[in-house]
Amino acid sequence: LQAPSAAGLVWNVTRNAEAKSDAEREAILADPGFGNHFTDHMVDVCWSEKGGWHRPRVSPYGPIQLDPAAAVLHYAQEIFEGLKAYRHADGSIHTFRPYENAARLQRSAHRMALPELPAEVFIDSLRQLIAVDGAWVPTADETSLYLRPFMFAKEAFLGVRPAKKVAYYLIASPAGAYFPGGVQPVNIWLSTDYARAGKGGTGAAKTGGNYASSLLPQAEAYEKGCQQVLFLDEGEYLEELGGMNVVLVRKDGTLLTPESDSILEGITRDSILRLAADRGHRVEQRRITIGEWREGAASGDIVGAFACGTAAVVVPIGRLLAEDFEIVHSGPEAEELALSLRDELTGIQYGRVEDRHGWMLRL
Ligand code: PMP
Repeated sequence: LQAPSAAGLVWNVTRNAEAKSDAEREAILADPGFGNHFTDHMVDVCWSEKGGWHRPRVSPYGPIQLDPAAAVLHYAQEIFEGLKAYRHADGSIHTFRPYENAARLQRSAHRMALPELPAEVFIDSLRQLIAVDGAWVPTADETSLYLRPFMFAKEAFLGVRPAKKVAYYLIASPAGAYFPGGVQPVNIWLSTDYARAGKGGTGAAKTGGNYASSLLPQAEAYEKGCQQVLFLDEGEYLEELGGMNVVLVRKDGTLLTPESDSILEGITRDSILRLAADRGHRVEQRRITIGEWREGAASGDIVGAFACGTAAVVVPIGRLLAEDFEIVHSGPEAEELALSLRDELTGIQYGRVEDRHGWMLRL
């Protein structure tokens, strides 16, 4: 047992006796890809209706035991988050706006009838994992340690009601550069047969079911030669991609992005829009129809678009392909703007650019 941490928790830490050797870890960090490898430890905290949050611990990474009747396996009462730890030139390790992830996890919890994890416990969980697995944060350009907090209903009970026993976990996975050969514009498939979310649904929560339902339309996108899928609301209003938010760029430099209560409020989008506003760009967040994008592209008012999210940061959209039309953005303005905002944001994340908004938290 250790002394209480900043959040007042007493963490039980069990070191992994079979942790990877330095050589094994370095071999993985040389080419980690995404989501393939995991660090030596994991964090978990239990919750019960009677006892609240309790038994915070760090233990060797490995399979978890779950009763076959655990509610998550049947009714998908589950939420997650995604953020990165970045290595700075002096060797220190930082995360980007982690309190925003903590708050979003709480909003997701509320929607999925799960208990809210206090933000300080969330931050503490990141610190605990980095304390034992900090060596897993890679050093090469654009690489990071992807942090995956998640929470699920573990109570063994087949009735449909909020579980009285829940687990919060944190695991971490080293991530290579998303675009090793430089950022490439992506082609997007417009899904009209499938929706991701609906009014009053779970679209604003980061919950597994939203991603399960995106897999079939995503497969359709691949068939059409596209890398990502764009979802609409009511067959008309722009929502978001399977795992990224979308922003349109107007000729006068205005950034236009959907307002919707059925999309995930991206922390990357919010940050990019603030950096753009700092530069004097106008930002409009409102309902946008696919017709407005088509007409704007045809008239020259909309000069491009980009997608943004934690994994890829910012990616220009080269082409939007739909069943019966396509939008092609080939001019340089929007792409240059997207890439320059991307550079500024990654500059802040990797400690090369002054963090004037106070977004970074040293772990
Ligand atoms: N929308 C969806 C559906 C996502 O999964 C993500 C990735 N978390 C985003 C948007 C972008 O969010 P963020 O910028 O916080 O990564």
